[in-house]
Amino acid sequence: MAELVDRFGRKIEYLRLSVTDRCDFRCFYCIPKGFNEFSDRGDQLTLDECVRLVRVFSEMGVGRVRFTGGEPLVRRDIVEMVRRIGAMPNIHDLSMSTNASQLARCASEIRAAGVERLNVSLDTLDPETFRQITQGDLSRVLDGLMAAKSAGFRPIKINMVVMRDLNMHEVGDMVDFCLEHRFTLRFIETMPVGEAGVSARDRYVSLSEIREMLEQRFELEPARMTGAGPAKYLKVVGGRLKIGFITPMSQHFCEDCNRVRLSSEGTLYLCLGQGDKLEFRPLLRGGVDDDELKGHILEAIERKPEKHEFDTKPGQVVRVMSMTGG
Ligand code: SAM
Ligand code: SF4
Repeated sequence: MAELVDRFGRKIEYLRLSVTDRCDFRCFYCIPKGFNEFSDRGDQLTLDECVRLVRVFSEMGVGRVRFTGGEPLVRRDIVEMVRRIGAMPNIHDLSMSTNASQLARCASEIRAAGVERLNVSLDTLDPETFRQITQGDLSRVLDGLMAAKSAGFRPIKINMVVMRDLNMHEVGDMVDFCLEHRFTLRFIETMPVGEAGVSARDRYVSLSEIREMLEQRFELEPARMTGAGPAKYLKVVGGRLKIGFITPMSQHFCEDCNRVRLSSEGTLYLCLGQGDKLEFRPLLRGGVDDDELKGHILEAIERKPEKHEFDTKPGQVVRVMSMTGG
């Protein structure tokens, strides 16, 4: 089997699959105000195209897939897609990033189709602040989260983008909420990806500041977490709660990068913070066979950049976060 190892010796075994660029929310740090340039339906990869690409990647050593978006649950054939990908012999880990707004309706179906691990975006527990950030309805998200808990996803991780003068003061409340429900909590620094991400830069908080805040209330010790990726985890001493810190800005985690990202239009992005890419759609629609596809993938992995440059070149990634799924 042709394994995917890049120039820097990093083994690529994780694919983040953005199944749609559309979303029922409008988080201001993700989708620019008034943005209306979502892709044409015909330009989105079909169910069969997505499944074929994942199969080819799985034959090259990719065993883990995360469904993301946009909001993956607004794609109509998502359950079928999860089922078909979950049935592939080399795929051993299926996860999903979601805003949870649709989970009250479909949590059990998604769980039964094969997704085990869930990341849910939740920046605030205050309905007004929630509306201000997302333009959406907090109660739907909380209902969705409870449905996910009942459906048996393990773990459920809450992703909180921490922002100055907006939700930073809720860090303690979010710890209590996650303790109560046995969720894992992860804090994320704002990233200057796309116009929206750049506009959120003035709300940037370094997570070392959050850690100091937490240390005033809790005794923390290092923790291990399977599938931790770029997050560094701490644990409250004597308790179950694990707290992750995702710090793309203040610390590089690129040396351990094991992933690539496929957009819903069929563009393979080799790094979240760089423009290097491979366009699959013309290849797929031009009748490429599997061996040729594998050749293109190997050539692209050769080009995977060493690291992002968010700190030295903020704003150089102009694509919208909802295209590539973060
Ligand atoms: N809609 C799903 C969700 O919200 O979880 C999946 C896609 S969303 C783009 C994936 C993650 O990217 C979310 O946790 C979101 O908070 C994060 N994100 C989006 N824009 C960001 C930015 N500028 N900085 C940091 N995180 C961002
Ligand atoms: Fe939608 Fe997720 Fe982006 Fe918010 S972060 S607008 S929920 S894709």
